[in-house]
Amino acid sequence: MSDIIKILPDHIANQIAAGEVVQRPASVVKELLENSIDAGATIIKLMIKDAGKQLIQVVDNGSGMSETDARRAFERHATSKISSAADLFRLTTMGFRGEALASIAAVAQVELRTRPHNSTLGTSLKVENSVVVSQQPDQTAAGTNFSVSNLFYNTPARRQFLKSDAVELRHILDEFERVALAHSDIEFVFFNNDTEVYRLPAGNLRKRIVSVFGASYQDKLAPVEQDIEALRISGFVGRPELAKKTRGDQYFFVNKRFIKSPYLHHAVVASFEGILAKDQHPFYVIFIEIDPGQIDVNVHPTKTEIKFQEERQLYNILRATVRGGLSSAQILPSFDFETPAEGFSQNMTRPARPAQTGSASKINPQLAGGEDTEYRRPVADDQTRLSNNLNNWEAFLSGNEMVEPLDEVL
Ligand code: ADP
Ligand code: MG
Repeated sequence: MSDIIKILPDHIANQIAAGEVVQRPASVVKELLENSIDAGATIIKLMIKDAGKQLIQVVDNGSGMSETDARRAFERHATSKISSAADLFRLTTMGFRGEALASIAAVAQVELRTRPHNSTLGTSLKVENSVVVSQQPDQTAAGTNFSVSNLFYNTPARRQFLKSDAVELRHILDEFERVALAHSDIEFVFFNNDTEVYRLPAGNLRKRIVSVFGASYQDKLAPVEQDIEALRISGFVGRPELAKKTRGDQYFFVNKRFIKSPYLHHAVVASFEGILAKDQHPFYVIFIEIDPGQIDVNVHPTKTEIKFQEERQLYNILRATVRGGLSSAQILPSFDFETPAEGFSQNMTRPARPAQTGSASKINPQLAGGEDTEYRRPVADDQTRLSNNLNNWEAFLSGNEMVEPLDEVL
């Protein structure tokens, strides 16, 4: 029998890969916004036309790209963010797969204009069907400007599967809001068909929540905070008045990445036990900062699922932390608190921080209102430190009542 296996040409391979990365206009929005964040941008502007079906444009003032990098960025597995498999366990960037731009350029017409801050001249590049169709020097602003036009123009079947403009716009707004909430230190502007929908000045998390959801949220937010070695929880839960019958305004961010976790959601809902009706969903924006070695972000291509090594402990800590926050805000009476009301700081045996972690700030700038305080991620790069940290969790938990989480989740 003659040989029948052939290697697919790049543009077809990219188009197939694009099926995973680019489901709809909102996927492009997410990837471009995350790239701007990874590039260190402090101002990011998003402009869309016809719910992103005609145009998705993202302009940032981040690092920009050299001429060579601008071309290379569209290759599959082209990334500046990891160079070894071990890097996967110490990820601090939003992206890392090096697939997004290759995928987008396989299913849309892309124009890139970019200039590094230290170059006088930038580059403009047009890519269609995975092929660079033009490249020129360009006197563009420092930073990067991506325009993605006519998504799925070359895959009519997929274009047909796009939903109505209203539905696609809702998906884009969801992605935009998640990214904006996760990065309150960055200014975001959003134009839909030339109308300004959002202008979110850089600020702390409370201000960002109010800019996104409205002034009525201002005095209805209870801070939640916990900081134990390799784990840090911070953010806000809404007072019961902000709870709704519909799901949607629940946000978990793990190392600034939006995730969906019915299991952790259950921990928060359980904290509201007795003060919320069963059919009410509490509002929350909760950040979990955890050693990247403790999680596996590589579970799902669109990365809203995550695996935690110590999920049960996390459940218990989260539940106790939220109850602590509700109690401090006098939403829950403290006597109604099985875990001691003032909670962790008093009862916990906080083991000394390993010297190399330096003087990690205990103040969450987002809670304290000080924008200029450095927001530290927990750092732990080696196995020893990791297991120490786990012992610390156990020590912490053994001083408090363990709550057995339900096995079945919402
Ligand atoms: P990943 O983000 O996983 O690395 P992408 O395909 O999204 O892969 O991007 C490829 C590379 O292009 C990035 O690693 C980065 O070096 C560069 N890049 C993409 N977007 C920008 C941007 N807005 N500013 C600067 N560099 C960028
Ligand atoms: Mg990326």
